[in-house]
Amino acid sequence: MGVSEENSASVSPAHRLGATHPLALAPVISPPATVDGFVRQFLQNLNFDQGVALSDSSSTDQYLALAGTVRDYLMARWLDDQSRQRAQQSKGVCYLSAEYLLGRQLDNNLLASRLTDIATESLAKCGIDIDVLRQVEVEPGLGNGGLGRLAACFIDSLATMSVPSTGYGIRYEYGIFRQTFIDGQQVEQPDAWLALGSPWEFPHPEAAQQISFGGHTETYDDEDGVTRSRWIPAWHVQAVPYNYMVPGYHNGRVNTLRLWSAVASDAFDLRIFNSGDYEEAVRAQTFAENISKVLYPEDSTPQGKELRLQQQYFFVAASIGDFLDNVLPEGFDLSKLPDRVIFQLNDTHPVIAVPELMRVLVDERGIEWDAAWAITQQCFAYTCHTLLPEALEVWSVDLLGRLLPRHLEIIYRINDEFLLAVRERFGDDELRIRAMSIIGEHPYRSVRMAYLATVAGAKVNGVAELHSQLLREKVLPDFDEFFPGKFTNVTNGVTPRRFIRLANPDLASLITEALGAGWTVDLERLRGLEAFAADPEFRERFAAVKAHNKVRLASVLRERDGIEVGDGHMLDVMVKRLHEYKRQMLKVLHIVTQYEQVRSGEVAASDIIPRTFIFGAKAAPGYTMAKHIIHLVNAVGEVVNSDPVVEGRLKVLFPPNYNVTLAERVIPAADLSEQISLAGKEASGTGNMKFALNGALTIGTDDGANVEIRKLVGDDNFFLFGMSEPEVEALWAKGYQPTEYYQSDERLRRAMDLIASGAFSGGDRSVFEPIVSNLLYDDRFMVLADYSSYIEAQARVDEAYADQDTWSRSAILNIARSGFFSSDRSIRDYIERVWHTPPML
Ligand SMILES: *Cc1c(COP(=O)(O)O)cnc(C)c1O
Repeated sequence: MGVSEENSASVSPAHRLGATHPLALAPVISPPATVDGFVRQFLQNLNFDQGVALSDSSSTDQYLALAGTVRDYLMARWLDDQSRQRAQQSKGVCYLSAEYLLGRQLDNNLLASRLTDIATESLAKCGIDIDVLRQVEVEPGLGNGGLGRLAACFIDSLATMSVPSTGYGIRYEYGIFRQTFIDGQQVEQPDAWLALGSPWEFPHPEAAQQISFGGHTETYDDEDGVTRSRWIPAWHVQAVPYNYMVPGYHNGRVNTLRLWSAVASDAFDLRIFNSGDYEEAVRAQTFAENISKVLYPEDSTPQGKELRLQQQYFFVAASIGDFLDNVLPEGFDLSKLPDRVIFQLNDTHPVIAVPELMRVLVDERGIEWDAAWAITQQCFAYTCHTLLPEALEVWSVDLLGRLLPRHLEIIYRINDEFLLAVRERFGDDELRIRAMSIIGEHPYRSVRMAYLATVAGAKVNGVAELHSQLLREKVLPDFDEFFPGKFTNVTNGVTPRRFIRLANPDLASLITEALGAGWTVDLERLRGLEAFAADPEFRERFAAVKAHNKVRLASVLRERDGIEVGDGHMLDVMVKRLHEYKRQMLKVLHIVTQYEQVRSGEVAASDIIPRTFIFGAKAAPGYTMAKHIIHLVNAVGEVVNSDPVVEGRLKVLFPPNYNVTLAERVIPAADLSEQISLAGKEASGTGNMKFALNGALTIGTDDGANVEIRKLVGDDNFFLFGMSEPEVEALWAKGYQPTEYYQSDERLRRAMDLIASGAFSGGDRSVFEPIVSNLLYDDRFMVLADYSSYIEAQARVDEAYADQDTWSRSAILNIARSGFFSSDRSIRDYIERVWHTPPML
């Protein structure tokens, strides 16, 4: 691997302007951090980069020029940090993730560089409202949900904590689809986030890495007569890096996120072009460029898609090549590699990096197998993100062997040696050997990527206490026994810069007023708010902030979707990917129960606590049941919102296209956070943390990080319901009989019957029949088993909400006690338990 020969000349350090050249030492000048300086730089960018006069410029021109100006301020730091990281002789982190759900960049980068006020004033001087420009930015949706957002929070924390690190990923031309509803059903539109230009990225085609695929392997004898293997690939693509600035918060650091884009390899095109087949040459180009064309809109079920494996190999091979060629000094002694880098594998998507590093070390750098394996085992660490067996990624040996024949050989050898060691330890226990093999045999021969990662990784971590425990006890117990000390926990976190400071500016001001500055980078300081929870005036001010956030949200939803939040309503929010394990259906049953009780006259509308239910959720396009559920939520909203019998006291809203931008508006306004997955199914959740930090109370099961949230905020400030994980296991083992719940609980029966009757589908009973029969006969996620407990917990919510002052106190205590959930703390845990990296020079 490595750069192609044509390219190597332009990136080789030997051909760079020598450091001794006088101009090489000239500092990059930042524009003066004054309004005048900013205005001048902005106008210059508008004129010279966008090629328009202020008087003729559109909002898009202005946004692009503004982004360019922010970039100009960050540039000196960025260039400085890049050479600093190259010069640093100590260990750094390469975070490998197929997804980064970044959200909008402008506000974050203004905040990080302390330019928000100057920019606002400068634009006002030019007659421009900065708020209008904020709306122009299309967020890069290069991720599906929690996993991609976690990667984005982590690179923010890495920069803010001055950890020498680079994020590596894929620059998908189309990110997660844009969701619209037609007749209440999800319709997917392509996400053309690059259409207006992408001012935050810097392409470097001259630094492309050549990535190979296909072909065959052969053995040969080298000069010393040693028999070696080599890969004769069939085709290549170029991986072009696009660099993004990742500014730390107020610390002057700017790290790099490097996303790879696929371009047809010159050599490949030329050969076809020479053959005179123009159409074929174009077809080849399209084929190559398909690799980074779209993000797979899958959250937790693997798709056996060849293209997806191509994407995975494409970005990790490029990233490893980049690190070895461009970050390490020339002539670096690779036996010292573990002193210089740890590759953190964000789930199994990048795990093909393991045989890739082995291939480079053994085949290309001539390192002997055992030595190479010893190096490799110290250079990787693996984060597991799931407990669902169907979400543990496997690749068929067939496909892998076709696409990456040498890698398959390497995987087989790793497995042979691993299983030998297992035999040595446990004897010829064939059942155990089969259970631990990296190669699975059923239903077809396949590579179990999680096992490969576990065998290769120096550390393996789960993402919440409960998840890590279940990982060790239920998912990988043999591995835990075989590799004592390898498994650890790092509970997820979220960045307080984006999810408090930017998303909830009024709360941020209130906190700063109470505690002073500094909490944004030391979130445990929120503890100081406990004292204020007892202060009636502070509670009132908190309530005013919450009320104002609701007004803000209401106006966003009105403008964006033409929908109305109920005035004075409790905001009850469930936003996350649509998946059966997350149990949006439980929420629907609660709503339908309330509605049915009013409709049947059992409860007077005037007796219900007014609530607006807000859903946000995308369903994977191929996930039929998830799409039925979306349809049902919309259908219930349609009926409930227009039925005079509820007197406007129940509203169901489902703004389409839930993304980071919408999350930033919805979460600060929420009163109640719905975290209602079946215990043992949600690895961690991070939405739950965002809500608690914004003063919403959680109604939740003992699942994922909910367990830790409840322990920290206290039972009085959390609405716990449902079976515990051991209870779930026991019920499943005994035989879950959903119809028993249906028959014995009248409220449940009436709610289910109302859905089945066609009341939400214009009398057509067939529309939601698949949902009803799934819940009654075929539900792995045991919605009906937790129904009564959930309804009772919701009654406790109503009761608590009736006393607004006490509610506010609980909300403030939620904030005060959730500082643990900063992603800065997660990164500190990774450094301590997994990476052992020193801070940057
Ligand atoms: C935080 C976040 C998620 C993850 O939510 P969970 O409730 O943890 O599943 C998904 N999507 C977006 C846009 C987010 O901001």
